[in-house]
Amino acid sequence: MKTSTSKLSSLEPEQLAAWATEAIDRSKLGQIPTYVPLLAKADRQGFAVQIRAIDGQILSWGSIVTTFPLMSAVKPFVLLYLLCELGEKAVFDCVGCEPSELPFNSLTQLERDKGKPRNPMINSGAIALASLLPGQNAVERCQNLRNWLNQQAKSQLFVDELMLDSVNSMPNQKNWDLALAMVESGYLQNSEIALETYNRVCCLAGTVEDLAKLGMVLVNGGEAIAQHCRAVKAVMATCGLYEASARFALRVGLPAKSGVSGVLLSVIPGEGAIASYSPPLNKQGNSVGGLFLLEQIAKSLRLSVFD
Ligand code: GLN
Repeated sequence: MKTSTSKLSSLEPEQLAAWATEAIDRSKLGQIPTYVPLLAKADRQGFAVQIRAIDGQILSWGSIVTTFPLMSAVKPFVLLYLLCELGEKAVFDCVGCEPSELPFNSLTQLERDKGKPRNPMINSGAIALASLLPGQNAVERCQNLRNWLNQQAKSQLFVDELMLDSVNSMPNQKNWDLALAMVESGYLQNSEIALETYNRVCCLAGTVEDLAKLGMVLVNGGEAIAQHCRAVKAVMATCGLYEASARFALRVGLPAKSGVSGVLLSVIPGEGAIASYSPPLNKQGNSVGGLFLLEQIAKSLRLSVFD
């Protein structure tokens, strides 16, 4: 009989393996994004998960050495870094904190909001925040963020240069339209530097271990950053899965953030973090397999923050 001090560490490896296998099967219903050529080449069946509990227990399954770009899963950490560097006022003067009802790259959403990005978890908000990162240019800004995150999380994030080349090979008109609209509304000064920085930070890459370790910063962050970690978790819970966030709060009840590469990070306050990778996505751009697995774990262990 295992003695465990957290709900998360009571999860049996056999149970995790069974759910992960079913998650791979269900992910067949999802689509791999094609707008970044290298993302389109991802292995549909690729799957990895790591669960880190606050008592130090770690449970992993699948291709845990596979690296992937964080894409939108970097957004909570751009937010955290800027809250720590600049404080709440500077950050939330530039970006809102309301949930969005339209897709993550919607220009209509931005127009409805008179050019102020609705929240930091959608592209407009993250592009605006990318422009606030300290540094002379995109390379330096991304480097500063990466160093800070790796230091906080003891992770080994790196810039996936091949992915970045691939992103740059197909200019993303939707992101350009968002950036130009924000220049017009005064929420962005330089669209080129903002987009270059945004694309680079989205290509910060690592394994599920790195992602789970980042999640643990939000759970365990020391006193100096605890207040900002709380804010980031609140924004993840309300906005992290875009227009699917409210439904997810009802079904699962955990702060979470997805990325178009198929990553999904969830943090369980006081308990730990769950990071998964499974490339096929649903209509909202969230990992089908990752969502399935997370829901099973959360329901069986009663992890919802509303429980
Ligand atoms: N870099 C990606 C984009 O701008 C990130 C979006 C995402 O992961 N949802 O489309």
